[in-house]
Amino acid sequence: MTSSEADESNRHPHGPTPLPSLPDKGRGESPSRAAQAQTKASPKLDLGEASHRRKNPLTGEWTLVSPHRMRRPWQGKREAVAAAPSLLHDPNCYLCPRNVRANGARNPDYPHTFVFDNDFGALHPDATPERIEDGLLVAEGESGLCRVLCFSPRHDLALAQMEVADVERVVDAWVEETITLGSREGVASVQIFENRGEIMGCSNSHPHGQIWATRHLPNELEKETRSQTQYLLERGRVLLLDYLEQEIARGERIVFSNAHFVVLMPFWAVWPFETMILPRRRIGGFDELFPDEKPALASALSELTKRYDRLFDVSFPYSMGFHQKPAGGAVHAEWQMHAHFYPPLLRSATVKKFMVGFEMLGSPQRDLTPEAAAARLREA
Ligand SMILES: [Zn+2]
Ligand SMILES: [Zn+2]
Repeated sequence: MTSSEADESNRHPHGPTPLPSLPDKGRGESPSRAAQAQTKASPKLDLGEASHRRKNPLTGEWTLVSPHRMRRPWQGKREAVAAAPSLLHDPNCYLCPRNVRANGARNPDYPHTFVFDNDFGALHPDATPERIEDGLLVAEGESGLCRVLCFSPRHDLALAQMEVADVERVVDAWVEETITLGSREGVASVQIFENRGEIMGCSNSHPHGQIWATRHLPNELEKETRSQTQYLLERGRVLLLDYLEQEIARGERIVFSNAHFVVLMPFWAVWPFETMILPRRRIGGFDELFPDEKPALASALSELTKRYDRLFDVSFPYSMGFHQKPAGGAVHAEWQMHAHFYPPLLRSATVKKFMVGFEMLGSPQRDLTPEAAAARLREA
C-alpha cells in the first residue's frame, strides 16, 4: 500500500476494453499474475493521466474518468457546512427516546437501538399485486414495508462517534431485520441503507437508517444479481471474491482491512470518495454472518466513518447501504454481500459533486482517480 498520485501511472489492471495489447482476463492463472502481465503489456493507456472509462462488473455500466481535469480551478457552487447537533436529547426530534411521533405514538425509553414501521412509509404491505399492461404502458402494484432504525438513543452521535460495541448492536439489528422481513410472504428484497447529512436530503440529524422490504428486486439488486449469476455460471467462481483477490494483490485502492472485511475504493467508483466494504469469505447476506464477523463489521464501519470525518474535517455526508442476496430462503451461491458508501463531497466540505449534464444523459464522470482518492482516505 504505497501508492500515491505520483506513481499511479504504471501499475494498472485490466483497463477499459477494447485494448488490443491486453491479454484475455487471465483464465487459469491467479489474478495477481494476470494483473502483472497486463501492466507490462499496456504501456499506452495511462490511467492516471488519460481520459478513459472503467467498467463496473456488478452492473455492466461504465464510468468516465478524466484525471487531467484535476488541474482546472474550481469556480462552482459551494455548500454551507451544517453544524453538528449538540443536544443529547432533542425534545423536537421524533426519533429521540420518549418523544411523541407525528402519528401520536410515543417512542420507548430505548437504551440502544430502536426499530419501528415508518409512519409515512413509501410502501404499504397491503398494496395490490395487480399488473396493468397497455402496450408500452406497464405498471404493477408494489407492496412492502419501510422500517426506521435508530442507531442510538443519543441525538448528537453518528456512527463515527459511537462506541464500536454500540455499532455492533446496529449490525445485530440489521441481522434481525433481514431475517424477520426476509421470511415474510411476498418479500423479495431487504434493502438496508442510511442517508446522512442535510446535503443528502436527510432532515433529521438523529443517527438512524432505514430498511425497506419490497415485493420485487429493486433495480440495483436486479442488475447485481444478474451479473453475479452470469459470472458464477461462466467461471464457477464468485465475482466479488475474484475482484477482492485482484484488489488485495494490487493494494492501490485498499483503504484498510481487518480479519474479516476489506474496505476499498472500487476501480469503477463514480463518486469521488466512494467505497465498498467487502467480506473476505463468501457471505450471501446478514443472516450468514458468523459471531466473530459482527464486531469486525462494526469496527470497519466505525473506522471508515471516522476516516471520512477526518478527510475534510466535517461530519461527512453520504448515502450508504448494504446489498445482500434476495430474500426467500434460496442459497444464492453467486451472491457476495457488501456495503456501498456514496459520499457527495468532491474536494472539500463545501464543494459537492453534481450528477448533471453528460452524467444524466450519458455516463457518470469523475476527475480524481479512485487510486488518488483511496490514498487520501488511507492517510486521513
Ligand atoms: Zn433525536
Ligand atoms: Zn452492490
